[in-house]
Amino acid sequence: MVRRHAAPDSALKVSITPRGASRLKDGHVWVYRSDIVSGDGVPAGSLVNVVDHRGQLLGSALYSSSSQIALRLISHDPVADFPALLRQRIAEAIAFRETIVRDTNAYRVIFSEADFLPGLIVDRYNDILSMQILTQAMDAEIVRETVISELTERLHPTSIVERVDPRVRQLEDLPPRVSGLVQGEKASTTFTMNRIQFHFDALEGQKTGAFLDQRENYAAAAQYAHGEALDVFCYQGGFALHLSPSCSHVTGIDSSRPALEVADQNAALNRNPNLPDIEWIEANAFDLLKDYAASGQHYDTIVLDPPAFAKSKRDLDAALRGYKELNLRALKMLRPGGVLVTCSCSYHVNHADFLEMLADAARDARGTLRLAEVRGQAKDHPILLNIPETAYLKCVVAIASDLN
Ligand code: SAH
Repeated sequence: MVRRHAAPDSALKVSITPRGASRLKDGHVWVYRSDIVSGDGVPAGSLVNVVDHRGQLLGSALYSSSSQIALRLISHDPVADFPALLRQRIAEAIAFRETIVRDTNAYRVIFSEADFLPGLIVDRYNDILSMQILTQAMDAEIVRETVISELTERLHPTSIVERVDPRVRQLEDLPPRVSGLVQGEKASTTFTMNRIQFHFDALEGQKTGAFLDQRENYAAAAQYAHGEALDVFCYQGGFALHLSPSCSHVTGIDSSRPALEVADQNAALNRNPNLPDIEWIEANAFDLLKDYAASGQHYDTIVLDPPAFAKSKRDLDAALRGYKELNLRALKMLRPGGVLVTCSCSYHVNHADFLEMLADAARDARGTLRLAEVRGQAKDHPILLNIPETAYLKCVVAIASDLN
């Protein structure tokens, strides 16, 4: 027998279209504004009961008065005590990391929808936690207090910093806020992943500080790397530092001088007389690769980890052309037996598109690529199969092979 909860009359209620309801029944948690039937007067960021057109309860959701994603489901049942639910979900997210995270004291503790905490991201960098709030509901004072107190009780950080994305706050119609410490005073630390050390400055850097989603890919790339290596779009040196123990020479390229300065400090943290020095080059990667290719330079290992080319579905074709051009250039510079580690963090480019692009590039380079690994984001950035938006990173390791 299928049991249905009746929505308590006192709770705020939002009814949605059959299309919205079927999306929820398929396991997604978003309801778009166009699927809201009645929700007038619902205050921004409130917890609401979601009902279908017959008035049947579908679950509890967090409401946004401004985002196109009007509702984010947080439970199939009515939620009487939201702070208690938050505490439980945070505890579960932390417990999950204890089972899957190895060899690092830096990892994503909470990944929004993928941890059933839509709108909340928390990263751990050793003793500092970095938190990002992406929705009206998560911005509420009671929510902030609960999140901070639960994180403190369970992880005992020296400090917690909030990183603000002004664009997100604007989209969510939230008042401006500046990034900064929300607890404690320490804003920088060092962290270790795969036995390599990195600096972390909570108030600098892009995104939440470092690209934790690549942690397992760094270790994978290191297994195949050899000879002369190029880390293109190197940021603070994540791949370059991991390649260096197995390579004779490593060059990191990025257009951001501040990122390269941290990369150099990271190299100094890990300096070892038996390892090659890493050379950092500030340049536009597209221009530099063109020059390198034109002057006949060759490499044994090339990493490509560009910023997202497709920010929306509309950009897909242009993005694929961009990825192809970049990968083709790299393939032409790879020596036989060379390793290409190629990534895309564009959610709109899926694994199949990315592999097809790579096959096209290999064909144009008149070479054959042997797939060594098709990888995604690190396990601390979980993927929910019914929420495709939770899967965004692709990382392919391929070996240049030849019929000759
Ligand atoms: N591989 C890095 C993450 C790369 S993020 C890591 O594992 O940490 C993308 C990087 O591309 C950023 O550091 C950004 O500064 C750089 N970038 C963006 N456009 C660029 C361009 N045209 N040329 C070189 N670097 C660029």
